[in-house]
Amino acid sequence: MMRMTMEQASGVTSLLEKLAGFGSTADGGVTRLLYSPSWKDAQSFLEAAMSAAGLETRYDRVGNLFGRLEGKRKEQGVILTGSHIDTVRSGGRYDGAYGIAASLAAVSFLRSTYGEPGRSIEVVSFCEEEGSRFPLAYWGSGNITGAYTTGMSPLIVDPQGITLEHAMQAAGFGREDQPESLREDLAAFVEVHIEQGVILERTGGKVGIVETIAGQRRYVITVKGETNHAGTTPMAMRRDAVAGAAEMIAILERAANRAGEPLVATVGRMKLLPNIPNVIAGTVEFTLDIRHISETLLTGFTDAVIGSFHSVAERRGLELDVQAALHARPAPMDPVLTGKLEKICSDGGIPYRRMMSGAGHDGQMFVNRCPTAMLFVPSKDGISHSPEEYTAAEDLALGVVVLAEMLYDLAYEEILT
Ligand SMILES: [Zn+2]
Repeated sequence: MMRMTMEQASGVTSLLEKLAGFGSTADGGVTRLLYSPSWKDAQSFLEAAMSAAGLETRYDRVGNLFGRLEGKRKEQGVILTGSHIDTVRSGGRYDGAYGIAASLAAVSFLRSTYGEPGRSIEVVSFCEEEGSRFPLAYWGSGNITGAYTTGMSPLIVDPQGITLEHAMQAAGFGREDQPESLREDLAAFVEVHIEQGVILERTGGKVGIVETIAGQRRYVITVKGETNHAGTTPMAMRRDAVAGAAEMIAILERAANRAGEPLVATVGRMKLLPNIPNVIAGTVEFTLDIRHISETLLTGFTDAVIGSFHSVAERRGLELDVQAALHARPAPMDPVLTGKLEKICSDGGIPYRRMMSGAGHDGQMFVNRCPTAMLFVPSKDGISHSPEEYTAAEDLALGVVVLAEMLYDLAYEEILT
């Protein structure tokens, strides 16, 4: 038997609906960019909701919002739970917001049912995760875990030319007198999130227990040849950047298919110069996104693919430039916490599966700071970062039930000696 009933957890839906009102777009989506007015309104709404649930609220220097339920034993650290409040442009109403709403619903239930915990629990609404306004992701969790500092903020600029520092200050943050973001008192971090993929739905799973968040490598590849007339340049005399890039991408796809799951490799953006129908393109720039749960395999695959790109370029008389844009190592979740989640699901008769996360999440920032766990609920048709994003109300509630059980285990039961 679970401590929290589905009925008690169902309040998460109305909380999410209210959150979706901040930054709602005409197409039914949500746009809540870091430090924008809708972002601020959403954080203020959550602050009030946390207070109403009996939590002690505070912001840190970068605008992460916390709601704390003080425990009896301060020295045993804090169980942190939550997700991010920002969205991509015209994103969905569940990505990030669900994790915050679920955490608030679960902690509110625990407080009203069991009172003061042994260990303190904090619900967190991370200020930013998506990287959709500034060319940098995980600004919230990165400041908490020490990967980032506010000292970087003057150097990071949005498409309007506004620095991160300026945007932060305009929203009322970034001041020296505000509490520093870095935390040394975390005993665990637990995040609930929508899957953003089809695996749970296709396999009938209701809860996904994340074992590892895949590592990612991103590159910007530039292939340079020679711009020339499409009618007067014989095939044998061309240095065609598009044909070269096409060969490279075909090699990439074949290699990824050969490597097999869970490796994925994507060319998602491509720019041609001059991009004219009757001109041989002299320059092609394309992005490369490669993900795997093993750092060794990821490195081996990436090196091999880039090596063959160089061979193609050489044979075709093209120049190749490879710029690394991101290197995120795979982030394994804590096996003890993962085991606890598994036991909760199997004892509760909940259809679950252990899985990896192909998408990046705040959880990956915490793995070197404290034991970290992550669970997923199904996404309809796997759609995310879109107004079409949807998770059924009972799936949302079940995630809250499992989270409440986990938080009870970590904050009330485990440590009372
Ligand atoms: Zn997210």
